[in-house]
Amino acid sequence: MKTIFVLLLFTANISWASLCQDGRQQSPIHITPDALVSPALPAMAADYQEDALKLANDGHTLRVRLRSGPHILRLGTERYTLQQFHFHTPGGDQIDGEAFPFAAHLLHKSATGHLLAVTVPFRLGAENALLRTLLPLIPPRVDGDHLHPGINVHARQLLPSDPSYYRYAGSLTDTPCTEGVTWLVMKHPLQLSAAQLATWRKHFADNMRGPQPLRGRRVKQSL
Ligand SMILES: [Zn+2]
Repeated sequence: MKTIFVLLLFTANISWASLCQDGRQQSPIHITPDALVSPALPAMAADYQEDALKLANDGHTLRVRLRSGPHILRLGTERYTLQQFHFHTPGGDQIDGEAFPFAAHLLHKSATGHLLAVTVPFRLGAENALLRTLLPLIPPRVDGDHLHPGINVHARQLLPSDPSYYRYAGSLTDTPCTEGVTWLVMKHPLQLSAAQLATWRKHFADNMRGPQPLRGRRVKQSL
């Protein structure tokens, strides 16, 4: 019995490993000009609400769960609900030769369960206002969600004022690397300060892999 269990675990690890390494639509990617096609993608419209802060240290990142809402992202007739956001070093998705030191991922779900993730790349520069609120509140231990009823956050603070974006078919960026995730990468990065990045690094090790092969994928873009 034990042998079978160990064998099953081993098999599961093998299939993760093969999808993570040999999948056809893995994330993150490097978005290069030759991969771009330009159909008329609809404008992004984010209708998020202010929400009481609920955050957790999950051992790899700081995760903020959205509670009340509704927090809706619209792309033409497509409609997604924001579930949570979290952060990565380095930034993962790269744009035309530029790698980013930090990124936010905003995870959304459609009514039918389709996952849509938004990458917001950060460059080093000015201090970021939302991170100024969040960084001092990173729980020192992995101990579940912490609710801060007196502190409101607005996920809109994580979106650049210019809503133009790239769109590609990708995956979860860590095991099990499940594919079928739609990724939007914002074209215009935000900024965080070097001191904020240093504070982040006191809490978390790097948690993002490098760009994965496009394997024939094309990247669409909004105007
Ligand atoms: Zn992520």
